[in-house]
Amino acid sequence: MTEDFGKIIDAANSNKNFQMPQVDPTEYPSLCCDKCGNVAFTTAMIIKKIPGVLLGSPNKTQLMPDQILVCSKCGTILKKDREYYKLTDDGHDTVNESNSPENKLII
Ligand SMILES: [Zn+2]
Repeated sequence: MTEDFGKIIDAANSNKNFQMPQVDPTEYPSLCCDKCGNVAFTTAMIIKKIPGVLLGSPNKTQLMPDQILVCSKCGTILKKDREYYKLTDDGHDTVNESNSPENKLII
């Protein structure tokens, strides 16, 4: 999830230290799904596989989950989250084992 949305959701979930700015949000446009135009989103998880060699455990891959937003109608991942995580428009990863930073290390 992009940092902005993460902060908003975290603040909304904790329901403290979160004050809506003094504006009427109904007067402004909604963020839309870039595929179908729907304005409602739900959360989903993306799980990144971090090579253990980067974390001091060479034989153990660490799973690192993060929340992303998904269109509640068509299931498309929010464009900002797709861009942040280098995903294709249909939600597939463009980073694979052969082009991950781990394999660019010179040891
Ligand atoms: Zn959609």
